[in-house]
Amino acid sequence: MTPLRVLYVASECAPLLKVGGLADVAAALPGALAGLGVDVRVLIPRIAGMPAGDAEIWSGDDCRLTEIRTDTGVPTWLLDTPRFRHRSALYADRDGRPYADDAECAAQFCRVAIAVAGGFLGLDWRPDVVHCNEWQTALVPLLLLEARIPAASVLTIHNLAHQGVFPLEMGERLGLPRWALQPQAAEYWGQLSFLKAGLVFADRLTTVSPGYAAEILTPAFGAGLDGVLHDRAQALTGILNGLDDAVWDPGHDPLIETHYDAARLQGKRAARRVLLEALGWSDDDAPLAAMIGRIAPQKGTDIVLEALPRLVAMGLRLVLLGSGDPDLERPWRVAAERYPGRVAVRTGFDEALAHRIYAGSDLLLMPSCFEPCGLAQMIAMRYGTLPVVNPVGGLADTVVDAGAGDGGGVGGDGFWMTSADPVGLVEACGRALAMRADPPRWSRLVRRAMRRRFDWKASAARHLEVYHAALATRAPPLDSPPARQPRASAPAGIAPQFADSHA
Ligand code: ADP
Repeated sequence: MTPLRVLYVASECAPLLKVGGLADVAAALPGALAGLGVDVRVLIPRIAGMPAGDAEIWSGDDCRLTEIRTDTGVPTWLLDTPRFRHRSALYADRDGRPYADDAECAAQFCRVAIAVAGGFLGLDWRPDVVHCNEWQTALVPLLLLEARIPAASVLTIHNLAHQGVFPLEMGERLGLPRWALQPQAAEYWGQLSFLKAGLVFADRLTTVSPGYAAEILTPAFGAGLDGVLHDRAQALTGILNGLDDAVWDPGHDPLIETHYDAARLQGKRAARRVLLEALGWSDDDAPLAAMIGRIAPQKGTDIVLEALPRLVAMGLRLVLLGSGDPDLERPWRVAAERYPGRVAVRTGFDEALAHRIYAGSDLLLMPSCFEPCGLAQMIAMRYGTLPVVNPVGGLADTVVDAGAGDGGGVGGDGFWMTSADPVGLVEACGRALAMRADPPRWSRLVRRAMRRRFDWKASAARHLEVYHAALATRAPPLDSPPARQPRASAPAGIAPQFADSHA
């Protein structure tokens, strides 16, 4: 039997190009799918500083596709175009400003995916399913329909906050058909929404945890798209991300100096010493909390800043590794100056330091106001660093609250905030510190957290079910428009174009 062929399209894929959790998913999920016998290829953009690839598989005008094999063995295709080539970082320039040609760039990326799916590049491989991720790839389902390409489409929402909204005129500039710019399609309050186009036209939708799948149907978490999602609720599945054990394993991690596992915790104490030394701090047994991630309102960094005086007064030390808008980074630098020896701040992206921090800390703070899945808390648990979380989305799905007081900690592996504010954070940290003061109980919690497994194999098996469901319910070509397809004038199939219409 021919294996199912899946083109996995994403704007990041670790270790080649990583900004956040999407990169980890785009590396691990295709690998796990390949392990289940799926013939999967990954398509990502190539920005400045990335490797050129091992072999060229297609070239045209000033664009080319090269193939590179990553550790997972999955063929990864890099799209090299002038627009991407000029980017030194993926989503924003060095000053944190979004790029002016974001829409053009994403549309071009989508059109190349369409060209692969339609067999227009002369490659000897065409997918049965195109799996898109986030708004940057969300025009693909619409363009597949327009070009009458029989592949089914799946769109994964990793974060509904990022929607790719542009002036409606941009739709015409990008050569989108008129029917696509209607309210039943990609039009969103007088603008063009890439994500909405994907939500409307993809055969199946997934998101990265069951909790978030339920939350985004509500106005509180739906980011203005809960109505659209409601209409497609039958097509939406929440599948928890896994954790790549090959990368995140304190027993073998090449980026940490001392190795350990749940049965041998001495290495974690040594990892703590290494981390404290790297921060220039002495080891006085003060509890050490960490934050690793984007400095952004979503991540609740403002909640931590507000709670900081009380957390420090409780004896907690805090290390933050993150990057974000310079305006959001600034108060953290001020905090580090205000609390020398208690608060350390490292900005920028530093994979090696991230591993050291996961290994050397006691707690990981994740007071996110929403969290589609969250990888940092899963990584932290694997490294015996207990997460303190606002129990929303994937955080509620992955962290079990250790409770409080006598008998507390039975069955738990982290701490839930009782409210999504500084008071809730201080309360949860207070419970954590009380339990840490009881070393045998603390070790039990740490061991339990380390033994939790977030399995990519199970996640890949669920994705496979979704692919088959997408194939079974695939929207018919435009000659007989599907029910959710606006019936307005749909043009005949248009050959994909890579050049921008107005470039
Ligand atoms: P996001 O919402 O950004 O995807 P996740 O928790 O799902 O957040 O994933 C974040 C991933 O990126 C984790 O693997 C985390 O360790 C990593 N990460 C985030 N910021 C940094 C940084 N500044 N340096 C190193 N790794 C980082």
